[in-house]
Amino acid sequence: MTTETETKHMKYGGSKMELFEACPGARKAIDSLEVRPAAGPAAERGTRIHGYVEDILKRRRVPRNLNEEEAIAVKVCDKIAEICEQYGYDTLDLRVEEQVLLNHLHPEAGGTADYAAFKVFRDLLLIDLKTGKRYVAAEDNIQLMFYTIGVLQSLSLFERAQLRQCHLAIIQPEQEEPYHCHVRVWTVDMPTVVKFEERIRGIISRAEKEPDNRIPGDHCEGKYCDARRTCLAYQKYLNAQTGGAIECALQGSEMPKVTAHGLELAKQYSVLKKLKDWIKCVENETLQALESGHRVPGYELQERRGNRQWASDAQIKKVLRELGLKPSQYEIKKLITPAQAEALLKKNDIKLPEDWATFADSPYIGKKVATVKESGEDFAQLFAAKVEAPPVA
Ligand code: SF4
Repeated sequence: MTTETETKHMKYGGSKMELFEACPGARKAIDSLEVRPAAGPAAERGTRIHGYVEDILKRRRVPRNLNEEEAIAVKVCDKIAEICEQYGYDTLDLRVEEQVLLNHLHPEAGGTADYAAFKVFRDLLLIDLKTGKRYVAAEDNIQLMFYTIGVLQSLSLFERAQLRQCHLAIIQPEQEEPYHCHVRVWTVDMPTVVKFEERIRGIISRAEKEPDNRIPGDHCEGKYCDARRTCLAYQKYLNAQTGGAIECALQGSEMPKVTAHGLELAKQYSVLKKLKDWIKCVENETLQALESGHRVPGYELQERRGNRQWASDAQIKKVLRELGLKPSQYEIKKLITPAQAEALLKKNDIKLPEDWATFADSPYIGKKVATVKESGEDFAQLFAAKVEAPPVA
């Protein structure tokens, strides 16, 4: 599996290569954290699915009464078998979840390659399983290349010299039934592998030479830098992007008026998602501090409660009946939603009728801001045309 969690003993893992390339100081910043953020539910789900796939591939047995994640794992294994067949391998040829080392680049560089197979005089196949929602491309994927280089290092010089090309595949199941697995393959020749090896060498070497060089940007959040919740460079970056709003909020002074327009307004709008992420980080940090008994002046932990629910449906029905209500008054039947109906029909292998779209409509509930693709030089001009300048006071 190829996330930072399982390469925790490695200083340089494949999943953070892009981040370290954008910010050489990130390695030291993450290492300096007293507490690393806990893995979220999506990462935990991913770890479990990887575990199920590993189990099936190694034991060659499919469990009965599959839970949802095991069902996904079975689909993934079927797809892995298809990919293997396509490239002339058997799933028995696969090395499953094997640790690879890139210690020719750094003594602590390495990780775990999900599934890999190779044949002398021919090629190497590396498959990486991605369980998240975010689309992951295979082409130019430096993380895939990192693990490929790791697998190549585990071969003898003779074996490596005979290889002609590498097939680097991403397999990504959908989040909903029937969990269709998408496959993307990037086939590269050996000179391309060498080029990437040099790029990775450069990333590691710069991170070693410039441990305090923090370069903030979209990657702090986009590439999940664990240090972003406490990183001053990132806070300064967000502060500048919002016209000093964060500094004002932290100092308790009046928030600056939003006077930007055109491209400047677009820039500030684009930073909202990052701000929300930062706010979430501060909330989590405060929650964690209070949970571990630390004092946060002015705040305490309280129980959160969901909407009230009946202790027993049968008991309350009896009480309501005795109080004089009729079942038609307290038992409301509700029609399922269009989305639920579609899911139900899909589950029962029933095709939607051709005029399906005419049965439901989305009511107008207001306007929202949506992103549009703008390109090159037209960018500023287009924004200036869409957003009117505020009236001069
Ligand atoms: S938050 Fe951004 S600037 Fe700070 S260490 Fe991480 S990547 Fe670098």
